[in-house]
Amino acid sequence: MSAKHTIVRLGLETLYFSGAHMLMRPFVGGVGAILMLHHVRPARRDRFQPNRQLEVTPEFLARVIRRLRRQNIDLVSLDEMYRRLTERDFSRRFACVTFDDGYRDNKQWAYPTLKQAGVPFAIYVATSFADRLGKLWWLTLEQVVARNSRFALMMDGRETHFECADAGAKLEAFEKLYWWLRALPSEQTLLATVDDLARRYGVDMATCCAEQCMDWRELGELARDPLATIGAHTVNHPMLAKASDVQVRAELKMSRSVIEAALGRAPDHFAYPYGDPTTAGQREFRIAAELGYKTAVTTRPGVLFAEHADHLTALPRISLNGGYQDTRYIPVLMSSAATALWNRFKRVDAA
Ligand SMILES: [Zn+2]
Repeated sequence: MSAKHTIVRLGLETLYFSGAHMLMRPFVGGVGAILMLHHVRPARRDRFQPNRQLEVTPEFLARVIRRLRRQNIDLVSLDEMYRRLTERDFSRRFACVTFDDGYRDNKQWAYPTLKQAGVPFAIYVATSFADRLGKLWWLTLEQVVARNSRFALMMDGRETHFECADAGAKLEAFEKLYWWLRALPSEQTLLATVDDLARRYGVDMATCCAEQCMDWRELGELARDPLATIGAHTVNHPMLAKASDVQVRAELKMSRSVIEAALGRAPDHFAYPYGDPTTAGQREFRIAAELGYKTAVTTRPGVLFAEHADHLTALPRISLNGGYQDTRYIPVLMSSAATALWNRFKRVDAA
């Protein structure tokens, strides 16, 4: 992951400093973009922050909003994005602000900024998180590694030991385990492994969920604001591509029903958990469309083109993340030169 980030960052630096994005713009200019955020909170000093790519500071978010406004980009809701795409209204460029998972810090640190600036936003809620049953296994893993200078777990049937006394070794151990877990053939094996780890090292997954995620009362308060759109993000936050057809349909349908029951309005928009090509592909895009979601977003990087009107349940996003908290990058990310670079000049990546 870090290697990939380094490459992306180098790509952005090169684009920024060469001004190449300005030259490429006539060829690859998009009509809009969907921004993806997770946590928004003040920076922490800890050296070991393996999930830092999932957070930005409130100040950074405020700067991004000012910057987009200065560039004459309309900040719009997902419904308005849907309207513009389906009616082919591309007279002005637009951007949507979206948050995944439903973290409490969104309300504490992002909402005041968005409210003050009158910016519409969407939160994609995994309903088990709001129900306090969510398994935020990547945060559990972070806690185990942070608190222990050595630990062990069963990997591929063998007891495997990790020594990690300093931040560097901890990062290495985290990366190795994170990607090993993500590559496991099933969600059940992943969760059983992390459950085992949590039990051995006294980390409570339920507490983690309760601390980090908004409950239905908090979500309800946000949802009352006309600026807010609540989207679905499954019930259990699984890697959908590894689940059966029946499970995928159940996750997409159930999450909609649960949100409707809790907040009084069924969501029209959906975000695939993880959302990369290994977790959401053609089958998931088709099912989301069949179940009537107006739009669904991936984490595949990219800006929106007119052609995305034909792929409304396979939309790309631009990740605003901890690695690129420098507003110099924003015009580059939004220029779509970065998209072209990521996608090898393919405008729509919906395969
Ligand atoms: Zn998520």
